Amino acid sequence: MAGTLAFDEVTTPYGHSGRMLGGSATYLSFAASLFGPKTGVVSVVGDDFGDELLDKFRRRGIDLQGVQRLAGHKSFYWKGYYYENMNRRDTLVTEVNALEHFDPRVPADFRRPDLVVLGNLHPAVQARILDQLDARPQLIVLDTMNFWMDTARKELDAVIARVDLLMLNEEEARQLTGEFSIITAAKHIMQMGPDYVVIKRGEYGSLLFHADAVFMAPAYPLEVFRDPTGAGDTFAGGFAGHLSRYESFGFNELKDAIICGANLASFTVEDFGTRRLENLHRDELRERMRKFVEITHYPMLERVYE
Ligand code: AMP
Repeated sequence: MAGTLAFDEVTTPYGHSGRMLGGSATYLSFAASLFGPKTGVVSVVGDDFGDELLDKFRRRGIDLQGVQRLAGHKSFYWKGYYYENMNRRDTLVTEVNALEHFDPRVPADFRRPDLVVLGNLHPAVQARILDQLDARPQLIVLDTMNFWMDTARKELDAVIARVDLLMLNEEEARQLTGEFSIITAAKHIMQMGPDYVVIKRGEYGSLLFHADAVFMAPAYPLEVFRDPTGAGDTFAGGFAGHLSRYESFGFNELKDAIICGANLASFTVEDFGTRRLENLHRDELRERMRKFVEITHYPMLERVYE
C-alpha cells in the first residue's frame, strides 16, 4: 500500500478535530490489516511524525520498511471543511511538505505483491512505485483526488493507463472525464486503461463497473455520522484486505470486496479521524455485515412474479 502518512485537521458540523493522525496510507493500512494479510506501506514522513505514531502501525503488524523519514521536513498536512451535507467538502490547506522531496523506495520484500493499492499520492510517485515491482501484481488499484487532477493531470493520466481498477468519488469522476452521467464517466475511464472502476457516492453507496456489467452496493445507514475523513481510504483498505482472502480477483470477488470496504468505512465516519477504526474489533465488522445483508435482502421477484 502506498499513500500519505499525515496530519489532518477537519471541521464538520459536529465540531473541530484539532491536529490528528491522518493520511491515505494510514487509513488504508489500518483497514487492510484488520483482515490479516501481510501489509506493507510505502510512504514518507517528516521529523514531526513521532515513534509513538509509527508504533500504532507496528502494533497492527504493518511493515514500515518502505517508510522514509526526511530530516528537516514536516509531514504532509491537510485541512478540510465539511458542509451540513457531509458528502461535500472543501480542502482549505494542502501542505505537501516532505512529499515534495519523496523518492519512493520499494523494499525487496514488497516487490512481488498479489495486490497493490496506490493510495492518494502524487501520480508520478505512484508510477515510480509500479516501476520498482519485479512482477505484475494480480490487481493494481489506484485512488486519487481532485487535487492531483488540478495539479498533475498528465502524470495522472499516465498512471491511470497502468492500473486495473480506478477508485474515485462521484464528483472526481465527473471532473476527470467531463461527463455528468456517472455511467458515461465510468465507460470513459475504462477507455483510459482500467478494466474496473469503482465510483463512491458517500452515504448513497458505490458502484462497480466492469465491461458492460455494473453492480451497486448501498452504504450502511448510520445514525451517528461525525467525520467522513478517511472513508474513501478505509473503503479501499477494507476492499483490499477482504480480497486478500481469495485466490483470484474477478468481478464476483470484487463485489464482495466493495461491500466489505463500504461496511468498514461506515465505522470510520462514526468518530473523528482514525479513532473508531483504531478501536474496532473484527466481530463488530462481522455483526455489521450480518445486519447489512439482513436490511438489503429483498427477494421481491420470487414473491411478486411467482
Ligand atoms: P478520504 O478517504 O478521501 O477522506 O481521504 C482523506 C485523507 O487523505 C486525509 O487523511 C488526508 O491526509 C489525505 N489527503 C488529503 N489530500 C491529499 C492529497 N492531495 N494527496 C494525498 N493524500 C491526501
